[in-house]
Amino acid sequence: MKTKICATCQKQDTLMYRVQIDANKQWVFCCKSCTEQYQSIADYKYGGTWKGNRH
Ligand SMILES: [Zn+2]
Repeated sequence: MKTKICATCQKQDTLMYRVQIDANKQWVFCCKSCTEQYQSIADYKYGGTWKGNRH
């Protein structure tokens, strides 16, 4: 099972969300709890879900 590190809280998880969270339009991977926080900001954009247990 693969994991990724959350771009903002450094938590390691097998489920990550591909999101844009600032004006740089950079795609980063964030954990579920961070993604839920970013959903309210203007620059938030969702680009898919990454699941480590499918690889
Ligand atoms: Zn996080």
